[in-house]
Amino acid sequence: MKHNPQFDETRERMAPGQLARDGFLGDDSRPIPDIIAADAAVLESAGVLPEQLADILDELHDAADAAQEAPVDLYDGRVTVQIAEVMGRIPCPFACGHRAHKACITIRFGGQETILTPLHAHLIREHTFFQGQGAPFRVPPSVLIALYRTARGDTPDA
Ligand SMILES: [Zn+2]
Repeated sequence: MKHNPQFDETRERMAPGQLARDGFLGDDSRPIPDIIAADAAVLESAGVLPEQLADILDELHDAADAAQEAPVDLYDGRVTVQIAEVMGRIPCPFACGHRAHKACITIRFGGQETILTPLHAHLIREHTFFQGQGAPFRVPPSVLIALYRTARGDTPDA
């Protein structure tokens, strides 16, 4: 891939201790466009759009926010979500101007537990970015595709 200096600055903003203590890339040395392309390919083969995942995450965030840190069940009890507020906001590392509230959103579904932040929905919707391999807050597309299907009530093999 042709070197794109635009992503040099993005990579700097994604480094540990810049916008987020642990950073966004983990030990992933691939160029950011390659990370995005690999995850986008997983979505494409599953027939799921980034917007569809982000919509679910926004719904979960809104419900958790309204429940004020108590656990809340959604989608006929198939998904449970709980938010823990953290003070402040974090800017999007792609420097698009978006600032997300800091919070930890714990999502339980299908016997597994995943922790996201409000920034995830934005990163996925606008940048198809799930974070680098090894980043503490990376959530693989496969997990969110499973969440999406659980929320919709799709059978696992549908
Ligand atoms: Zn952004």
